[in-house]
Amino acid sequence: MVKVTSIKCPNCRKETPWEGNPNRPFCSERCKMIDLGAWANEEYRVAGDKKPADEEEEKE
Ligand SMILES: [Zn+2]
Repeated sequence: MVKVTSIKCPNCRKETPWEGNPNRPFCSERCKMIDLGAWANEEYRVAGDKKPADEEEEKE
């Protein structure tokens, strides 16, 4: 049996596969951009000089 790891897109809550998904944890590049944009607008200002996490994040 192959276990398929799926996650829910933080932006639109759509179930999306984790493996082979270049935009994870989002379902699509569009959701990724929307979420990053919202984050940047709200959190970035409050956090001051805190930079957005880079794309190299790897969670096992
Ligand atoms: Zn989505």
